[in-house]
Amino acid sequence: MGMFTVTLIPGDGIGPEVIDAARRCIEATGVRIKWEVRQAGASVMDEYGTPLPEEVLESIRKNKVALKGPITTPVGSGFRSVNVALRKALDLYACLRPYKLYPGARTRYTDVDIVVVRENTEDLYAGIEFAEGAPETEEFIRFVKEKKNAEIRPDSGISLKPNSRSASERIVRFAFNYARENGRRKVTAVHKANIMKYSDGIFLESARKVAEEFPDIVFEDRIVDNMCMQLVQRPEQYDVIVAPNLYGDILSDLCAGLVGGLGLAPGGNIGEGIAVFEPTHGSAPKYAGKNKVNPTAAILSGVMMLRYLGEKEAAQRLEGAVARVIAEGKKVTYDLKENRDDPTAVGTSEMADAVIEAMVTSGEAAIRD
Ligand code: NAD
Repeated sequence: MGMFTVTLIPGDGIGPEVIDAARRCIEATGVRIKWEVRQAGASVMDEYGTPLPEEVLESIRKNKVALKGPITTPVGSGFRSVNVALRKALDLYACLRPYKLYPGARTRYTDVDIVVVRENTEDLYAGIEFAEGAPETEEFIRFVKEKKNAEIRPDSGISLKPNSRSASERIVRFAFNYARENGRRKVTAVHKANIMKYSDGIFLESARKVAEEFPDIVFEDRIVDNMCMQLVQRPEQYDVIVAPNLYGDILSDLCAGLVGGLGLAPGGNIGEGIAVFEPTHGSAPKYAGKNKVNPTAAILSGVMMLRYLGEKEAAQRLEGAVARVIAEGKKVTYDLKENRDDPTAVGTSEMADAVIEAMVTSGEAAIRD
């Protein structure tokens, strides 16, 4: 068996705990991985003068694959999101997030198996913003008045929403290819093209055009507000969902809620021949260092990584072990218990131990068979 080198970014808050759990589970599959640990986030600011040191990007560019924990973005500070910067720097244009319902998870639903494909590089996340009262903002407001004869209140802050044809076609094509390669039957494009005729209009037009290349996959579109309602009422009707950046972000958390919470939602940020896998959830600072949160999202991000590396059998075994531990409902974290104060809930690392144990016992059962 070959050996992979993977960049490991523990992140901050609960990041180091869940990433350690994921790393141990991945190693227990027997797939040989050399981890190149690189730190990013507020903790390295003093040393490097940036929360995203060049050596982190260099390591990922070299290894082509990374497993990453969440990184805190202080609200309202000058500090831009490391997560957004990393996706942009490496052109990880597709955010792939599968939401599968594992029996035993705490949810109102019985049948959810949705994959959200989110555009990762533009839209309102492009980071082109005008601060209230800045000279360039005043100039921009004058420009809009002159060219569009439209009033923007002078005390406004402004964020631009560019959606390009090239990036829209690229993400929709990614979603259709994913659907085809993974035996999925339908792609739903989400937008608000009735209001944002140009930006979301381009997304919708691009989606319709690309859909013609995939006659074997059903295509439909939904306006984002209606999509939210439909997902809450009838999630079993949806399969692959493709959306511009912001709607994709919001729908991701909505879908995490459908399958039992953020603790269960893995993800991957994927570009051309390069990928960074990370849970959907953030750094949950209030739980940091408490060995309390659910490691499943991070472990399942590891499962996605193993599939990406071509280690399909190992991925299947690890996912099966996670599913069994959740179904049994004993050695699971508080969020997987019926009552969140249940004293029998185990910690992050103990749940990872249970997953490893489940993998070993199923291996022994297979040998006995
Ligand atoms: P969050 O996802 O960190 O936490 C919200 C709540 O979700 C938590 O309080 C907890 O109740 C629950 N939760 C999250 N992860 C869980 C887990 N593994 N197990 C059980 N419950 C879990 O969201 P937030 O509080 O909005 O964000 C905190 C910080 O994380 C912010 O600085 C934000 O910018 C950052 N963030 C980073 C990423 C990333 O690194 N990709 C993603 C989202 C948010």
